[in-house]
Amino acid sequence: MTARIVLLRLRTVTHVRSRPFSSPPVRVEWDFVRVLYVARCDRCADSLATPNATAADDWADTHRCDPELTALLTRITKRRAA
Ligand SMILES: [Zn+2]
Repeated sequence: MTARIVLLRLRTVTHVRSRPFSSPPVRVEWDFVRVLYVARCDRCADSLATPNATAADDWADTHRCDPELTALLTRITKRRAA
């Protein structure tokens, strides 16, 4: 009897919510490892992990960035780029 090896690839499914241009860029991803939906803001790095897709979408729709955190992250990333 020969053993068969099946390679499984972990994937992350990402979709970016269609929102007004001025809204924060929030992604909703499915994390196969943690078995959770993860909503993450690209501007302030705030995030939410939940098993509920609707909760992740609702968070993405209502998220507002913390202005102080956003300014701090912008300053750090500009310093790294220079
Ligand atoms: Zn944000």
